[in-house]
Order: sequence, then structure tokens, then C-alpha cells
Amino acid sequence: MKTGIHHLYIPGPTNVPEAVRRAMMVPAQDHRAPDFPELTLGIFSDLKRVFGMGAGEVMLFPGSGTGAWEAAITNTLSPGDRVVMARHGHFSALWAKMAERLGLVVDLIEAPWGAPCPVHEIARRLGADRKGEIKAVFVTHNETATGVTSDIRAVRQAMDACFHDALLFVDAVSSLGSIPFQMEAWGVDLAVAGSQKGLMCPAGMGILAVSEKALLAAKTARSHRAYFAFEDMLAMGRDGYFPYTPPVPLLHGLRASLDRLFDEGLEAVFARHRRLAEGVRLAVRAWGQEIVAEHRGCQSDTVTAIRVHPDVDARQIIRIAHERYNAAFGAGLGPLAGRAFRIGHIGDLNEGMCLTALGLAELAMAEAGLRVEFGAGVAAAQMHFAMQRPALRMAEPKKAMPAAFRIAAE
Ligand SMILES: *Cc1c(COP(=O)(O)O)cnc(C)c1O
Repeated sequence: MKTGIHHLYIPGPTNVPEAVRRAMMVPAQDHRAPDFPELTLGIFSDLKRVFGMGAGEVMLFPGSGTGAWEAAITNTLSPGDRVVMARHGHFSALWAKMAERLGLVVDLIEAPWGAPCPVHEIARRLGADRKGEIKAVFVTHNETATGVTSDIRAVRQAMDACFHDALLFVDAVSSLGSIPFQMEAWGVDLAVAGSQKGLMCPAGMGILAVSEKALLAAKTARSHRAYFAFEDMLAMGRDGYFPYTPPVPLLHGLRASLDRLFDEGLEAVFARHRRLAEGVRLAVRAWGQEIVAEHRGCQSDTVTAIRVHPDVDARQIIRIAHERYNAAFGAGLGPLAGRAFRIGHIGDLNEGMCLTALGLAELAMAEAGLRVEFGAGVAAAQMHFAMQRPALRMAEPKKAMPAAFRIAAE
């Protein structure tokens, strides 16, 4: 028997806010009713805002992020097309595998797990492509397996610098709505997202943002596509309908989650993710463990992968957290299995939830055999959260503060 709440600290699915859960409790509804577009058209235009889109279209496919990967490829590319992709984590590796399965010729760049996408190597390959055979560059904005964020703007600048005409595809599944994303300003042609990460809904929808250039490519691309055809989706979507039955309760949930994002303000949402992530990173340092992301500039604000001391199997930490503390942490994936565990800090989260995650992680790590000082990580994060509040920083009687805090505050 497990009592109390379940502590979900994985990077997706993320915690679904009460308001979103309630919004999904609707009776079945006719998705061809005259008033249905009142729900959908607003969602489409608000999602464009979250993507930072100018012209172009947003499409929602029943499915998940993986389905949206497939929709992106099959609608805009043809078998035999050359594409450049970097493999530096579980998700970039899976997308590359899918591209190969779908008949693309994948020009693969191997990068260390923990590194961001290698912009210089992408630029080099594009520069060497005199005949313009490369049709697209695929980048994973936030590698959820390693907790690494890549610089999409820099990739676009590198493409522009060699006057290359390839499309830029971005996996924004674990960044959209949590980390700044600027589809238009960064020159992204196709961005992929899902409902269950920064958008705080259950899984069930793959989301695509498609530029005008990618829409044009879809008119001549020859890959087979049926269920995921843009053409059908756009023909119905213009009027706010779907070519088949959409998950209607999920759309109501998405409406509520978008309202929450705008009520808080996107900038404030990004700042909150940054603040919480920094607290987690400081905790990891206080524990004397290693962050998988190799330098500050690429450490993700939505998930932190923690490489633990090699004497300890990281799977034990996750199992103990699950069995004894009703808490879920993310597993190490691929080569990081057993070597790392992940703390998701994405979506509907606050300081209290983060501190709970860190406190429970300390318990589970200690029980798995790691030497950690209880409270060290929690205190490091608390100190950071306190410093982020100007009122607290200026609070008078410094003497009342613990010594460590005093030093940090001065
Ligand atoms: C979760 C995730 C996916 C896969 O999404 P599903 O919804 O599980 O299909 C793809 N890419 C990244 C970066 C992810 O974090």
C-alpha cells in the first residue's frame, strides 16, 4: 500500500496540473459539430505563439512525439534523400534510426553523450556538399537522455554562412513551453513536440510546427504517407476540424495548459525552469556527483542526468526511490543505463517539489551505497532559491542565517 502522493520526477510524462485534469473530464462530444472549431482554432493559434512562429501551420496528430517525427520525415522528404544528423543521446539516435528505416541516406555525426550537437561539424559537411545533395539537417534541441540543450540559432547561422538550402528540422519535444524556442527567429523549418512534456498534458498527441518552406517541400516529396498526410490534416484543419477522430478530452486539457502558460507568462515560465534547474545542478555538485552535460552552456533546464560513482548501480537508486518512497526518477538510457539517473524538472513544478525530489534522491542514493551528506543537496538548492528572491536577500538580521548562507549572501 502506497500512501500520500506519487512523486513524479521524470522528464515526461510530466505532472498534469489539477486544472488540466479537470478540464479533461468532459462528456463525449461531436468532433464535427459546428462549434468544435471554437476549441481547436484557438489552440492552433496559441501553439503558434508558443513555437514563436510567423507564417506556417501547426498540426496536431493523435500519437506521440515519435509519430510526429515520422510525420515530419514522410511529408517533406523522399527515399534516397541525404540528411545530416548528430547522434549524441538516446533520442537523437532513435530519430536517426527512424530516418534510415524510412529510406533516407543519413550522414551521421557521432558526438559524445553529454555534448551538444556539433555545429562546426554540421557546417563542415554542408560546406563540402557542393552539389546540394543534403536536403535536411536534424537537430535535437533538448537531448532528454543526457540533459543537454543545443544551440539551434547557431545551427541556422552555420547553414546560412555556407548558403546551404537544406531544411532545418528540430526535435523540441522536451523543450517547447519550458526553454525558449523561436521557430521564426531561428529559421526552423519543422519543429516536433508532444503533449506530455512542457505542455503538461497526458501523452496522446504529436505536435508539428511547419514553416512555409517545409509546406512547399511537402508538395513534391515522394515518401509514402497516409494517416500522417499533411494534405488531409491541413484541408480539415483550416476550418478547425480533423480528418479523423481527435482525442477531444486531451484538446480540452491542452486548452487549459496553454491558458496556464500564458497566465504565468512564457518568460516567467522559462525563468522558473532556469531557477529550478540551477537548484538541482547545485545540489548535484554538493553531492560530489557528475552532471552528464559536459559544460554549463549546454546544461538543460528541463532535465538533469547525473552520472553516479561507478561503484554504485544507478538502477538501484531508481528502484529504491520507487519501492520505498513512491517516487519516480528517470533511468539512464543506452550507454548510461546503470551509470546515471535523471531528475526531470519540467512542466508544472515549484521549489517545494524540487526540494522534495532532492531530499528523496539523497535517501535513495545513500541506501544504494553512495556517500552523500544528508541535506547537502537540499541546502544548496535552498540557498539558490533564497538568493533568487531579492526580498529575502535583503532581509535584515544576517546573524540569524546559517554561516554558509551568510557567505553566499554577501
Ligand atoms: C520524449 C521524447 C521523444 C519521444 O516522444 P514520445 O512522445 O515518447 O513518442 C522524442 N524526443 C525527445 C527529445 C523526447 O524527450
